[in-house]
Amino acid sequence: MATLVIATKNEGKAREYRKMFAPFGIEVKTLADFPSFTINEDGKTFEENAVIKAKTAVDHLHLPVMADDSGLCVDALNGAPGVHSARYAGDHDDAANNAKLLKELANVPDERRTAHFHTTIVALKPDGAKLVTNGRVNGRILKQPRGENGFGYDPLFMPDEYQERSMAELTANQKNQISHRGRALRAFMDKFTGWWQA
Ligand code: IMP
Repeated sequence: MATLVIATKNEGKAREYRKMFAPFGIEVKTLADFPSFTINEDGKTFEENAVIKAKTAVDHLHLPVMADDSGLCVDALNGAPGVHSARYAGDHDDAANNAKLLKELANVPDERRTAHFHTTIVALKPDGAKLVTNGRVNGRILKQPRGENGFGYDPLFMPDEYQERSMAELTANQKNQISHRGRALRAFMDKFTGWWQA
């Protein structure tokens, strides 16, 4: 069976991708299935980081790889936290990251609290064939957290599509319809067969 490696060790992500690629007869593996190697995620853009992850994994594993990189970009902070979203205040510490974001925006009025989430997905084969797609959702940063669903900055992000509800107050399906990741993934799947069979 043909194998596609997802450049992550996150088992939750792996489960979703396994389901997505099962109809294509593709076996999904993750970095957890191989001896570990270091990836220096020091890109300045989401695409640079996704390419770094995909290229490092392809060079080590000699298999087709899919990688993604996401984050929150706040206009009043010149695009921060951006590629530093996971480690804005603490390493993957959502509460600390959200507290820092609220502090940075303490004196910023509603009309200037615009922001967006962005995802870039990159797929790369050992022969260099590359597929890149992007997704984005626009919204505003709330003044206090709302909701229990989702993860990361979801409790502070009010998407334009759902005025008066934070991303953390949406169901998983509602979030997937409008989210940066959902949009990037649907664009990816539209082009996937062309890349996979080339
Ligand atoms: P990753 O590249 O998908 O691991 O995302 C990096 C970081 O961006 C996460 O650790 C979160 O802090 C933030 N982030 C990405 N996607 C989302 C989302 O859908 N909701 C909230 N935060 C997100």
